[in-house]
Amino acid sequence: MSANQAVLPKSLPRQAKGALYASHQKAYPRFQNNGNFRRLKWLAMAILFAIYWGFPWLRWDRGPGAPDQAILIDMPGRRAYFFFIEIWPQEVYYLTGLLIIAALGLFFVSALLGRVWCGFACWQTLFTDLFVWVEQFFQGERNARLALDRAPWSAGKLLRKAATQASWLLLSLLSGYGFVLYFDNAPTLTRDLVFGQASLNAYGFMGMIGLFCYLLAGFAREQVCIYMCPYSRFQSAMFDEHSLLVSYEVWRGEPRGHLKGAVQGRNPEDVFAGRGHCVDCRMCVQVCPTGIDIRDGNQLACIGCALCVDACNSVMDRVGLPRGLVSYDSSFNQAARSRGDSSARTRIMRPRVYVYVAVIGLVAAVMVYALGTRKTYDVNVLHERTPVFVELTGNRIRNGYTVKILNMVREEGRYRMALEGLANAGITVIGIDGEGLSAVELGVPPDSVGTYRVFITAPRASLHGKKGDLTVVMTNLSTGKVVRHESFFAGPE
Ligand code: SF4
Ligand code: SF4
Repeated sequence: MSANQAVLPKSLPRQAKGALYASHQKAYPRFQNNGNFRRLKWLAMAILFAIYWGFPWLRWDRGPGAPDQAILIDMPGRRAYFFFIEIWPQEVYYLTGLLIIAALGLFFVSALLGRVWCGFACWQTLFTDLFVWVEQFFQGERNARLALDRAPWSAGKLLRKAATQASWLLLSLLSGYGFVLYFDNAPTLTRDLVFGQASLNAYGFMGMIGLFCYLLAGFAREQVCIYMCPYSRFQSAMFDEHSLLVSYEVWRGEPRGHLKGAVQGRNPEDVFAGRGHCVDCRMCVQVCPTGIDIRDGNQLACIGCALCVDACNSVMDRVGLPRGLVSYDSSFNQAARSRGDSSARTRIMRPRVYVYVAVIGLVAAVMVYALGTRKTYDVNVLHERTPVFVELTGNRIRNGYTVKILNMVREEGRYRMALEGLANAGITVIGIDGEGLSAVELGVPPDSVGTYRVFITAPRASLHGKKGDLTVVMTNLSTGKVVRHESFFAGPE
């Protein structure tokens, strides 16, 4: 095979001579109904869909007045809840940590098992698989679907196509419904959606996600994996000779050719003497959701779903040959077996796997530490800009501030605010008795942000220059924990 063929496999659409782009040819995958990998795909689909639609219904008691949905992104309340973890907008770095772990986890799995994520767990694959099953349910197997598309429109064709589209739309709406459940109380939202009382946002997002699902799984299908998904472009960087990939055993299958005469009752060694084991039935190509021929070698378009393994194994069973002509295997094993060495074993633990495990462990440890030492309150101090300062009688200067106290626990918080770095400064809080105090006590309701308008006054003599440092010292009166926030105090030249 030439290098050019390795980049653009024979089975992908070819462009006309001189044209820059190939026109898309619709794939008609045969639905692979049996085999170990087919069963594994059904199992993965059942578990992942159960998680997707089931998790929003899990409850988690957080006390009175707090949402009891275990996983919830509360946009109006500006919180995200994940069982016992409650994330405030200031803590989105947890999300960054989670995304880093997810990306590294993907690299780790890819190094071990190739594109197993793409083939078994990616949303695009799961919904496309389900949509193809619906299609073959209403329109028949691959050949029947091909014939139906070529046939002129009739009542029967219209009925089959309409039933397929209606089922796709229903599944798409369900996918959108599952998505919006994570953003509101699932039981209430479900009732509101059914009775037309949900917000426009809820209907809008449900429709938008549903539309994406309908277009991507119903029509774009393999083009998402081949042309749109960035992961397919760099995944080969994670592979080495010990990564498990779906591959065709060229040394065993070639030279390929159709079988001549019946096989039953004959010794397979006689039937296949002087030729390869591939009977060129193209079942591996017909079941492929991306429409490629795995016999052309490892390709970017292969999502590692292993349906061609199941298809070829059932062909091998029928012709009395050992399974595994197309198999989920490492190139190291394949090369060893081609030399007749069946003792070689794929190495699971290798330097790159150790590196991924170490980095995932490190990021996870940092996140656990950050969660364990998470603040229960925080302070923000914003200096007012208009005016930056006011000159008062008695040679005193006044600055205005907005002080925000984030009380992240479910009890009312009491805090003592004091100042450092500015001699003889006094605090006045709008709405609280007393002026020019050295310290003031502030309260914040449970699980909320307390916002106070504060004036700080100081003699002009306390300010050396135009601007001086000022530290707001906030003490939690229940825990004694102190938070310091650096700010400044401005005055004239
Ligand atoms: S070549 Fe095989 S493993 Fe790869 S996408 Fe096609 S059917 Fe799936
Ligand atoms: S299914 Fe197996 S025997 Fe049939 S064409 Fe593919 S590799 Fe050859």
